[in-house]
Amino acid sequence: MDRARIGLVGLGTMGAALASNIADKGFTVAVWNRTTSVTRDFAANAGALGPRIIPAESLESLVAAIRPPRAIILMVPAGEPVDQQLAALRPLLDPDDMIIDAGNANFHDTERRMKAGPGIRYLGIGVSGGEEGARHGPSIMGGGPRADWDSVAEVMEAIAARADDGTPCAAWMGEGGAGHFVKTVHNGIEYADMQMIAEAYGLMRDGMAMDAGGIGDMFARWNQGTLRSFLIEIAATVSHTADPETGVPILDVIVDAAGQKGTGRWTAIEAQHLAAPVPVIEAAVMARNVSALRDERAAGEARFGRAPQPVTMPLDDLEQALIAGKILCYAQGFAMIRAAGNSFGWTMALPEIARVWRAGCIIRSDMLNDMAAALEEDATRNLIFAPFFAGHIESALPALRRVVAGGIGAGHALPALASGLAWFEMMRTARGTANMIQGLRDFFGWHGFDRLDGRDIHHGPWAAVE
Ligand code: NDP
Repeated sequence: MDRARIGLVGLGTMGAALASNIADKGFTVAVWNRTTSVTRDFAANAGALGPRIIPAESLESLVAAIRPPRAIILMVPAGEPVDQQLAALRPLLDPDDMIIDAGNANFHDTERRMKAGPGIRYLGIGVSGGEEGARHGPSIMGGGPRADWDSVAEVMEAIAARADDGTPCAAWMGEGGAGHFVKTVHNGIEYADMQMIAEAYGLMRDGMAMDAGGIGDMFARWNQGTLRSFLIEIAATVSHTADPETGVPILDVIVDAAGQKGTGRWTAIEAQHLAAPVPVIEAAVMARNVSALRDERAAGEARFGRAPQPVTMPLDDLEQALIAGKILCYAQGFAMIRAAGNSFGWTMALPEIARVWRAGCIIRSDMLNDMAAALEEDATRNLIFAPFFAGHIESALPALRRVVAGGIGAGHALPALASGLAWFEMMRTARGTANMIQGLRDFFGWHGFDRLDGRDIHHGPWAAVE
């Protein structure tokens, strides 16, 4: 057998799917897993892909099986396992060889590893789409030196999802940790999209007494329009699914506490560092944290009474509110990516990012085509100012206000929709209220302020008025 085009370490859920995808696309792949029986089982069950899979039972034989200059994908849990594998592989590799961390690394770790000294080339790539995506076409966000990405782009593009226009959803996002950064923001947006769906679900279930089937019908209807996306589609499917054990809707037997692995939280934390507001994502992270406080929530309901009360609102309003919320959320997310590019000195190809998210990943949606087009027109402008989206916001805003006002008035928690709206109201207010904050800061801390008339006086006459 010829030597492999690429190697892969870690045959877990994602690694096994990715290795099969690579072999499926005609590349020979050498694979190694910490637990050898997993490698053996993978090779034994490879079926027609078997001739393009080289199982290795040691890292030495893995390295020997790959054509130099070698590229080895790591698909192991983020954090310590990546450092362990790097330490184990480094001595076996030539300076031209490259390690590609394809897990959900924190981009700060990716930057640290890239700078950790000479010896090998290093790429950090974000892979989205879950197991199904990894097997049949993920969205791939590459980061690191451009030339290093180019050297594996043929493999990445071959295994990636294809957008409707046939373009592969794999691209170089920028230097350094840009790939993992973009994947992190992708996941933050994923949290936000899901939170807004959950808020719409809550209004229908608790406000309008709709059953899961009826709610599923709404999501299915919305999936025919502007909201058409993977998450709205599966919101319909999940709503329509019955629990095989009891026959009741599966949603009615699922505990209302959402799990998380941390990428949404990373997005919120990084947004704070960058002073790039992403309130819809932050609200979604907060909501997951509150969801986990089940006992306290039960005690709260017992003490204060149940919050959500019946509320009527046109279901078309709810659809429009979700459209507006989605646009505002993505406008914030892209602005955060732009801020990161400026702060870290990464190129950040914004239209490319929107294009890569169009297929294969969890947040794939039709709207991303329009976002890619708007960012192509002008990548420096906030998405809310792109004529296409400005028009959408103007037409959907009254419905978003009605939904938020009506929902909150009836005790529904709508943190994502409400914070998206608050951000937008501030973004369209030339004379805000931070002059009061500046006055207070100067009063107690002599922090100084600028005057509207530009005079060179930066403090208030506080001593005179005390
Ligand atoms: P799994 O838990 O299914 O597999 C983990 C793999 O890593 C196994 O092959 C395991 O080997 C190996 N491994 C664990 N610890 C070490 C270590 N210290 N040294 C060497 N190998 C180790 O994880 P996933 O495939 O789900 O995830 C892999 C990466 O992909 C993670 O970073 C994850 O965040 C990311 N990811 C996951 C997605 C998903 O939907 N699951 C989506 C996108 C990214 P062994 O068999 O010996 O235990």
